[in-house]
Amino acid sequence: MSCKVVLAQGISASYREELKSTIKTRNICPKLVGFLANEDPAAAKYAEWTAKTCAETGVEFELRKCSRNDLEDKIIEANQDAGVNGIMVYYPVFGDRQDQYLQNVVDVSKDVEGLHHKYVYNMYHNIRFLDEAKTKKCIIPCTPLGLVKVMEYVGVYNGILPHGNRLHGRVVTIINRSEIVGRPLAALLANDGAKVYSVDINGIQEFHRGVGLQLKKHEVSETSLTVEEVLPLSDVVITGVPSPSYKVPSHLIRDGAVCINFSTFKNFDGEEIKKKAAIYVPAVGKVTVAMLERNLVRLYDYQAQDRAPSTA
Ligand code: NAD
Repeated sequence: MSCKVVLAQGISASYREELKSTIKTRNICPKLVGFLANEDPAAAKYAEWTAKTCAETGVEFELRKCSRNDLEDKIIEANQDAGVNGIMVYYPVFGDRQDQYLQNVVDVSKDVEGLHHKYVYNMYHNIRFLDEAKTKKCIIPCTPLGLVKVMEYVGVYNGILPHGNRLHGRVVTIINRSEIVGRPLAALLANDGAKVYSVDINGIQEFHRGVGLQLKKHEVSETSLTVEEVLPLSDVVITGVPSPSYKVPSHLIRDGAVCINFSTFKNFDGEEIKKKAAIYVPAVGKVTVAMLERNLVRLYDYQAQDRAPSTA
């Protein structure tokens, strides 16, 4: 079997080293506050993991626990505290639209997760900067951004093409169209030039920028295609089905494809997929946390830029 298995630890290492060295050489200490307002053991585990990673890179991380009904006030307090550079919340809190409201209570300038409407809107509309002078890049949600970095690392992005078009000609299938990962990821990859088949239980949509990338931002169309039809066409298959019993049918995967799993469950049969894929990435969690810290350092710099006296 010639399949190369690529682990998230290796992919995240270069980002973590770069962050560590930036923080050390510039002698800065960005502060991230994480709010835990649920009893979900998975959220507590993620918080523990964030704390450990931040300690390794030199980021100050403070976990603040509160009741869900106090959370809004606590976020506002952190928004107003100049000593806090980044804010994240462990969702779900209410598990309904109130969570969406809370995502917008976090100040844009401190939103490390990129979940504020402004960032979400800019991402879907392929608006890459916050300012006209193009000095401040928009924050991209950590898991979709982590998956983009995984694809850059394994060479799916073509470096001789201009930025923003580097997936031109690639066909990607994403199995999951959740608001938190699958749909934003489909939009990001299509905005970068890919033709994306976005698969969910209610059907398959196609995200693309048209022939020759004539469109500035992606458009979406409904299709009557099936998984059986799109998998053999795909250079890359990314899956995030939250179920232990779900397996991507290996026999439909194109020979030499890149296969990436972001679900906490193993959506690919490890042995079978290695017989077909050129590259297999079994998990991406560590890259997600590296992106969280990268977003934090970026926001830290924007805040310093905003505080600096104007030279005009
Ligand atoms: P979610 O429950 O919000 O969404 C899952 C989506 O998959 C839904 O739209 C659902 O309809 C769809 N789905 C379910 N079965 C399907 C099937 N057979 N075919 C096609 N689509 C199907 O979950 P989520 O937040 O998107 O997370 C998905 C998984 O990814 C979970 O296991 C989660 O823990 C993991 N996750 C990992 C990271 C990371 O950084 N590694 C980050 C976020 C989520």
